[in-house]
Amino acid sequence: MSIERTLSIVKPNAVEDNNIGNIVGRFEKEGLRIAAMKMVKLSKERAEGFYIEHKSRSFFTSLVTFMTSGPVVLMVLEGEKAVERNRTIMGSTNPADAANGTLRKLYAKSLEANAVHGSDSLASAEREISYFFDKNELCGRF
Ligand code: ATP
Ligand code: MG
Repeated sequence: MSIERTLSIVKPNAVEDNNIGNIVGRFEKEGLRIAAMKMVKLSKERAEGFYIEHKSRSFFTSLVTFMTSGPVVLMVLEGEKAVERNRTIMGSTNPADAANGTLRKLYAKSLEANAVHGSDSLASAEREISYFFDKNELCGRF
C-alpha cells in the first residue's frame, strides 16, 4: 500500500458554476478521502506564492488574476496513489485535450479556467499541502 496525500483546488470558475459538490462527490465516488477542506478567497500574494514555479511564464499574471477572481475550495485528498489518481480524474490541463468524463472535460471553461488543480508529484503535494494547511488541520486516517 502506498497511501498518499495530494492537494486539490476547486478553482473559481467551478465554484461560480455551483460544481463544488459534483467535484467533491466525484473524488469520494472514486474512493479518495477528504482529509482536509476549506473555502477561501486567495490574496494576490498567496496565489503568486502558490504558482511560483510559473512566475516566468507568459500566462502567470493572468493566472493569478483568475485564481483571485473568486473563492476557491482547498482540499487534501488521501488514498492509494492519490497524486496520480487525482491527475487522471482531472484530465489534461487543456480541456480540449481532456478525456470524456474527466473533471476538466465536464467543468472547465478554458485552458486557464480549467476547474481544478491537482499536485503533479509527491514532492509538489507535500509543498502545496503545507503551503495551505497547518499539520493540525489534517484530519486524515494516516
Ligand atoms: P494545475 O497546476 O492547475 O493542476 P496543470 O499542472 O495541469 O494544472 P500547469 O502547467 O501546472 O498545469 O499550469 C498551471 C495552470 O496554469 C493550469 O491549470 C492553467 O490554469 C494555467 N495555464 C497553463 N498553461 C496555460 C496557458 N498556456 N495559458 C493560460 N493558462 C495556462
Ligand atoms: Mg501544475
